[in-house]
Amino acid sequence: MRESASEVTSPAATGEGEMPEVSAVIPVYNERESLPELHGQLVEVLTRLGRSWEIVYVDDGSTDGSFEQLRELHAASPSGRVVVIRLRANFGQTAALAAGFDRARGTVIVALDADLQNDPADIPRLLAKLEEGYDVVSGWRKRRQDKFLTCRLPSWIANWLIGQVTGVRLHDYGCSLKAYRAEILREVRLYGELHRFIPALAKWVGARIGEIEVSHRPRKFGRSKYGLSRTSRVLLDLLTVKFLLSFSTKPMQMFGRWGLWLGSSGFVLAAYLTYLKFFHGEQLAERPLLLLAVLLMILGLQMVSLGLLGELVIRTYHESQGRPIYRVRETLE
Ligand code: UDP
Ligand code: MG
Repeated sequence: MRESASEVTSPAATGEGEMPEVSAVIPVYNERESLPELHGQLVEVLTRLGRSWEIVYVDDGSTDGSFEQLRELHAASPSGRVVVIRLRANFGQTAALAAGFDRARGTVIVALDADLQNDPADIPRLLAKLEEGYDVVSGWRKRRQDKFLTCRLPSWIANWLIGQVTGVRLHDYGCSLKAYRAEILREVRLYGELHRFIPALAKWVGARIGEIEVSHRPRKFGRSKYGLSRTSRVLLDLLTVKFLLSFSTKPMQMFGRWGLWLGSSGFVLAAYLTYLKFFHGEQLAERPLLLLAVLLMILGLQMVSLGLLGELVIRTYHESQGRPIYRVRETLE
């Protein structure tokens, strides 16, 4: 377990060098107008927690003066309270979150959006749920304030599909308001747009995942950074996650299975055609079946080779980075 740094600090103060208990991480991309209000609400809620805290803003290459706004908030706050990370360009929400997670020092990390759609007032309930023994607690925007056709319908389908495929059934994968135990986030490496799949990826390292209802507010300032194209990207990411969850430590099991199946059906077809040729003197040149047999055998061979290559790659991956294929929750000695 981690040591708690709280005993010596009064709840409201985190001096320099001390570890806060709670870190709020907020990706910011062109959200200037929302920031002062968000910051005010956050500070109020966090102060009432009675635990030490910090806020980590990650400016994801904003062009609307968000950074200048964050600089002001930082200057106006006691030291150690507000951290502002400015990315060199717009790397996307996942990268911005990852930057914040890497920098956050709290034992508990809460992520939320900068656009005021998430309500900081929900944070205490998220933390309480975490304390019940969960490693990740996800918000569920039950009464979501977005457009039905472009937002809520696709997301409803996506949530159902992701639940089926990953086995982590959440009502609302897309909700950014989530609380994590920091040690879980250290294990989860984010790429592409995988931030939506953190609960599924966390399950991969053995996390216990919970969900609570949170409120959701309409966007007051600025615009959403995403459109309908998000749906197809989520589907592709889902494929990646499924592969990671089920086969990343045994690629040969997946590719090999298909390879054997395709290759052996090709072989059986070819044997049948050979029999026809030698015992019945049939001409094979005109038979599409021959083409299929050859295709299947080649495909099978390729799949098996891909599986073998995959096995090599995962060994390099796990061994070069010292990543075990298991995760220990606790040991009694
Ligand atoms: N965001 C970001 N980089 C991006 C796009 C979005 O940091 O490239 C941030 C954005 O500022 C907001 C959060 O990610 O805090 C969610 O974005 P948005 O509200 O546009 O998504 P939606 O609520 O429409 O799903
Ligand atoms: Mg939003």
